[in-house]
Amino acid sequence: MSEEIILQYIEKKRDEFIEYFREMVKTDSYNPPGNELNLANTISQYLKEHNIDVQIFEYDENRANLIAFLNDNFKQKNLLFNGHMDIVPAGTESDWKYPPLSAYNKRNKYIYGRGAADMKGGLTAMVISLQILKELDLEIEGNLILTAVSDEETGGKKGTKWVLENKLADIKCDFAIVGEPTGLSPLPKAIVLGERGHLQLKIIAHGISCHASMPSMGKNAILMVNELLHKLDQIDSKIPEIEPPISFVELKDLIAEAFPSKDIFENIYQQQELLQHLVESLTKFTKSVTMIGGGIKENVVPDRCEMVIDFRLLPKQDPNQILNALKGLIKDLGYEFKEPEEEKADAYFTFEIIHKSEGSYWENWKDSDTLKQFYDIVGKIYERDSFYILYPACADAHYLRNNGFCSDTILFGPGSASTAHSVDEYIEIEDFINAIKTYTLFAYNFLKPQQNQ
Ligand SMILES: [Zn+2]
Repeated sequence: MSEEIILQYIEKKRDEFIEYFREMVKTDSYNPPGNELNLANTISQYLKEHNIDVQIFEYDENRANLIAFLNDNFKQKNLLFNGHMDIVPAGTESDWKYPPLSAYNKRNKYIYGRGAADMKGGLTAMVISLQILKELDLEIEGNLILTAVSDEETGGKKGTKWVLENKLADIKCDFAIVGEPTGLSPLPKAIVLGERGHLQLKIIAHGISCHASMPSMGKNAILMVNELLHKLDQIDSKIPEIEPPISFVELKDLIAEAFPSKDIFENIYQQQELLQHLVESLTKFTKSVTMIGGGIKENVVPDRCEMVIDFRLLPKQDPNQILNALKGLIKDLGYEFKEPEEEKADAYFTFEIIHKSEGSYWENWKDSDTLKQFYDIVGKIYERDSFYILYPACADAHYLRNNGFCSDTILFGPGSASTAHSVDEYIEIEDFINAIKTYTLFAYNFLKPQQNQ
């Protein structure tokens, strides 16, 4: 009965919700510089109008995190909704058919804009869910906590990490949803159980500069990087071997669940190269050399050459192991590795860590009845079975899972992961509405008094 009331309410308010979402997309929260306070104010105003207590924590110029609670009872079950407010820059605006902050509504089917998928769609659906549960005043025992955070696109230390450590440290959380876009077209909506870790590293070769006519007088930094590149594959044998949390075969089986039969899935799998690469990359440690640069003049042997490598780690793989393996490789080549503050030798390497985050994984997901309940709700609302998978990118979920705050954390949200960060980012309106329905129905089922179940 209450479920029907919720669904009817959402249908009735549909246009209002879409307009509020457009307001969110129109609000500048680009990071960098990180204008999250703008969006925090948009959320706060909306929640206050609906009598929900909300707190904004400012920490820098126009930067802030926001927390809201459905009620003031924290003694029973607590459900956490987490969404980041920051969006990545739009790049060259003239490349966009619909301006990035226009929130253009195309035929009442799509909303365009930077952040529409990643992840103002998920965040707005979470804010609205909180509002619906307050408004409908259904009988609820526990609490729903919303954290709208900053800094996710630049590592999350000042966002999710800060909020957990400083504002929610005393609260036991039983289940958490991070509302990142989990559409992986052409597959149905995914429920994400873990992500790979990430290490983005700049490796700098410091050589000795000299005139190009007498190269033996110097040490060419470009050639030093070249030597390292040739041996790079050796680091695979220098890092401790680690099993992926979900094996290649098991991951394929999990995805196949979303198809009418295994044969149909296998057929699609063979045709879809993207799908093959996705499954393979999710079950492996990978590395990509993404940038390289050196030299200042045609006739000068360069004393500096930089290269950036993007490593993706399996959950439980420690980024420091990769750094140590690389240092070992540099030593094998006969060069010294130096910390930036160390006294410098003649020819040596230094590192600059651009980004470092751990992977994470919900280990006991198979035993969770709550997760099954969530899966069923997704299937009912989206009218298509969902499936479980790992995430190719990184997200704030590792702060929740890895520090013991809430192991039972999933990623689930409207929008497609492939449109995130791209030009003409968009979201399907139906997907957004379905996310509101999914979040609200699940929150209600999770928090309603046990005897009524
Ligand atoms: Zn995101």
